[in-house]
Amino acid sequence: MYLKSLEISGFKSFARKSSLSFTTPITGIVGPNGSGKSNVAEAFRFVLGEQSIKSLRGKRGEDLIWNGGGEGAGGSGVARSNRAEATLVFDNSRRVFPSIDFDEVSIRRVVHRDNSNEYLLNGSQVRLKDVVELLAGAHIGATGHHIISQGEADRILSASVRERREMIEDALGLKIYQWKKQESLRKLEKTDENVAQVESLRREIAPHLRFLKKQVEKVEKAEEMRRELVAACKEYFAAEERRLAEERGRLSRALAGPREELARLDGELERAKAILAASKDKDQKSGEVIALEGRLAHARAEKDAVTRDLGRLEGEIGARARSIEREKERQKRDEFRTVYLKDVESLVATIEPLPSVAEAVGLLKAFVARHRGTDDSALVGEAEKEIAALAGEKAALEEKLAAIASSEAKLVQEYDALKRAIEKEKDVDRDAEKDVFRVIALQNEARSAVARLDDQLKALALDEEAFKRDLGEAGMAGGREATLYDALPAGQAPAGTQEQEARRKGIERLKVRLEDAGASGGAEVMKEYRETEERDAFLARELEDLGAARRELTALIADLDARIDLEFKQGILKINAEFQAYFSMMFGGGRAELSVVREPKRRKKTDVEELSEALSVEEHGERSTEEEEEGPEGLEVSVSLPRKKVKGLMMLSGGERALTSIALLFAVSQVNPPPFIILDETDAALDEANSRKYGDMIESLSKNSQLILITHNRETMSRAGVLYGVTMGADGASKLLSIQFDEAVKVAK
Ligand code: ATP
Repeated sequence: MYLKSLEISGFKSFARKSSLSFTTPITGIVGPNGSGKSNVAEAFRFVLGEQSIKSLRGKRGEDLIWNGGGEGAGGSGVARSNRAEATLVFDNSRRVFPSIDFDEVSIRRVVHRDNSNEYLLNGSQVRLKDVVELLAGAHIGATGHHIISQGEADRILSASVRERREMIEDALGLKIYQWKKQESLRKLEKTDENVAQVESLRREIAPHLRFLKKQVEKVEKAEEMRRELVAACKEYFAAEERRLAEERGRLSRALAGPREELARLDGELERAKAILAASKDKDQKSGEVIALEGRLAHARAEKDAVTRDLGRLEGEIGARARSIEREKERQKRDEFRTVYLKDVESLVATIEPLPSVAEAVGLLKAFVARHRGTDDSALVGEAEKEIAALAGEKAALEEKLAAIASSEAKLVQEYDALKRAIEKEKDVDRDAEKDVFRVIALQNEARSAVARLDDQLKALALDEEAFKRDLGEAGMAGGREATLYDALPAGQAPAGTQEQEARRKGIERLKVRLEDAGASGGAEVMKEYRETEERDAFLARELEDLGAARRELTALIADLDARIDLEFKQGILKINAEFQAYFSMMFGGGRAELSVVREPKRRKKTDVEELSEALSVEEHGERSTEEEEEGPEGLEVSVSLPRKKVKGLMMLSGGERALTSIALLFAVSQVNPPPFIILDETDAALDEANSRKYGDMIESLSKNSQLILITHNRETMSRAGVLYGVTMGADGASKLLSIQFDEAVKVAK
């Protein structure tokens, strides 16, 4: 036995806390009309999670709460409650609720006046869903197939084929599979939504990804170009640096010669100029020449005058000499006069030391005169005296002349020397002049060589500036890397200017191409591309996962469908065996059967079609009219009574209809016994004979399920182990009490 007790308080007419213990397989609840018996059955439905207030005979949740009773005889009304609650306690020692590891399971539901509900499982608050799932696992379904309310006995007969199928599925415990299937379908739907969403995301990404890919290709191409540029720059700069250095070396070496030459020429020029400057004192020499010439002329004039004087003197002397001659010729005759040798020798001794001839002559003459010793000799003496005077004069003049001649000779000598000096100076000047011209010419040559080299240096400086500029530009275009060139190895010859020019042009072309590529922000593009690609790959994986999930779900659904179908059909076979047995027991024969039906017009479907249709029914929840026409798979009840020709449910009387539905309910309960069954006056329409049969069936049913029977039927009461009587006092509140059979019979009336 699973059911232990029910406690209700504030629920409908049960104002006070009331409890029922279910200690026997069959519990009977009896009482007069309107005392509150059905409220007990409803308390079961309520606590099991019934959501339809209407099926609990109310409009709102509030209608379930004790609303205060009418003022009774004693005037002691019970005030209305704020809440209605019911607690159902199960024995779980055999783990009918396998998920709960307690020997007792209590389920409590509370409804408040604000229509809010609480569910408690062993005192802990849970969700309705938890309660429903817990119960489904113990074959206590929400359709309430095991709680047959008053007047609802033939609900299974009056239901549509589809509703009937649902009720039977529930009773067979297939609901749990249905829920699983519903859940799988919901998941499938969610999966499909996700697939659509992911696909749409991928479609959204696709053009951007394509665009980014193109950008990345551009960036990569640009990067390749940049690397090419870097390589070209390194090569160019290394060679250029070397070329410039060598050019500078060559030029400075080349300049050294002409510069030295210029310095040397400067010295030379200075010297030549100095020489020229020195020749300025040649005017002084000219003056000297003129002076000398003057003196020479003077000397010559003097000489001429002296010579003239000498001539005159010589004339006078000649005249005198001739007179003497004449005298002498006269005296010649006296020539042979003798003179003493001693006188002559004395004369010689006198003359010899004399310096001048004239003196000597005078002495000689005197000597002679003395030796003549005549008067005539006075004249001769006079003349001789005069000649001697003239001779003296002449000697003086001759002396003078000699002196003049000697001074002239000196002057001439001086003059010649001066002349020669002047001539010589003239030669030196000419050489210096020539030197000046030559040096100036050489200087010009050297200067133009220097100028040429200077021009080349200037061009080199421009090249060096261009080199620096190029480095900067290369850095801008190709990054710092492009400027980090290695110096050319020592031995390697630098590239020629032409080769460098070609490289330079190549670099310029690369720069332009790089600029045209317009692949700026490369890193960001690459990053975005990678991220987008990763996202796309992630989405692709997601799609694969979703596809796998979808396949799994579809397989699971097909599996569940197959299981439901199989168990349903097997269940129907078993139910039909029990149904037939109960039916023939009730009616003493005849035939009763549940059959799976479809719309008669419909052609026979293949299994696959059946499955897909079943799936689509589950998916859409309800069928469209069109589909309805095609016909769902439902359950039909066909009966034929013994000894009667009429067939079909429509032809049954009220009693027959009640018996048939009881037979079917019991058959279903027999195949898959629920833990408990509540029957609210299901036996109301039975006559005495059928009441007994009903009683027998109840007893056989109670072997597998606990029964709670609300009844006015004496026969039924007699089968109950415990009986509860429900009464209602003047205050309108129901009261519960355990009673004996005899009392029960009385109470029930
Ligand atoms: P019968 O034998 O005729 O089927 P019953 O014993 O099954 O009758 P119920 O239908 O269970 O009687 O009880 C109905 C009674 O419960 C009515 O008197 C009704 O006024 C009372 N009732 C229902 N709801 C409330 C409520 N919220 N507060 C007070 N009383 C209520």
